[in-house]
Amino acid sequence: MARTTPPRPVDPVAVFPELAALARTATRLHPRPGTPSAQDSSIGGPLLWPASEPWPHCHAEDHRFERLPTISLANTRLERRMRAARNSEGRNYTREEKEILDRMQERPATDGPIAMLPVAQLYVRDVPGLRPPEGTDLLQVLWCPYEHDVDGLPQTALFWRSAVAVTDVLVDPPEPAEYEEDLVPEPCTIDPEQVIEYPHSGELEQRVDQWTWAQIPGVDFDDLEEWDSPYSAFCIAPGTKIGGFIKWGMQDPYPDPCPACGTATEPLLTIASREWEYNERHWIPYEDQAAGNSREPAQICISDVNDLIIRVCPTSHEHTHIQMMQ
Ligand SMILES: [Zn+2]
Ligand SMILES: [Zn+2]
Repeated sequence: MARTTPPRPVDPVAVFPELAALARTATRLHPRPGTPSAQDSSIGGPLLWPASEPWPHCHAEDHRFERLPTISLANTRLERRMRAARNSEGRNYTREEKEILDRMQERPATDGPIAMLPVAQLYVRDVPGLRPPEGTDLLQVLWCPYEHDVDGLPQTALFWRSAVAVTDVLVDPPEPAEYEEDLVPEPCTIDPEQVIEYPHSGELEQRVDQWTWAQIPGVDFDDLEEWDSPYSAFCIAPGTKIGGFIKWGMQDPYPDPCPACGTATEPLLTIASREWEYNERHWIPYEDQAAGNSREPAQICISDVNDLIIRVCPTSHEHTHIQMMQ
């Protein structure tokens, strides 16, 4: 289903034409729960992974939480669905459900490398705004399903490949023996949509903020803390997206130069805990407003409901990506 972001409630560009030169197109991915295959673009879905290629594992030793016994990923997802049905129907578990839950066996904890989990698979044909290295048409992102002390984030790995070159697809990839449930994405299909964004921009941002407040009737100015900045709320899309600008919130904007060559890195992919905030209704697609859809389709929670942003070097795909939290 196509997703349609409503227009912004006010249009700062009409009053501040200098913003137009700063505009950038972002692609909102709009993940929604589904049953994607390895041939589909997805968030949390199966990857088109060559059987001959080793599956990525995390060898880090700074996992923030103790590795405890877990049930299988399939059972974690089944338990989630049963819990959601129970909660939405306002009832207790049925006897059958209790029996199913009782049968879910925990596996003993291990201490070796951790098999990484698919987080995003994006075919260039589906996602405008991707700039693949020559000869590739598929981006795959995996993460280690634990927060790491170094940055509080799950450690990510990126792979670009050519889909036609994958002739023998790995059908039963390794799964992590342990994980944080909050970092196990539900499989989602995507419905990309392009939107225009404007960057955080210092003095101009302040002027736009003042003007914007004056346009919105009934604003309680004692309540401003609820909105960090109307500029940011109107000009930068929330949620999972390709490109665009970073929705700074935890810190002021800072450059994060490429460690290999010093060039300023650009946001490639934002993986969001939430697709929107309730006080930013203008970012909720009409279709999701009508259906009353959840703002947490992938059911992930990155370090206290934050976003993970993958930044890459614009000069070379060979240069390692940077990841950061906002
Ligand atoms: Zn790890
Ligand atoms: Zn570089």
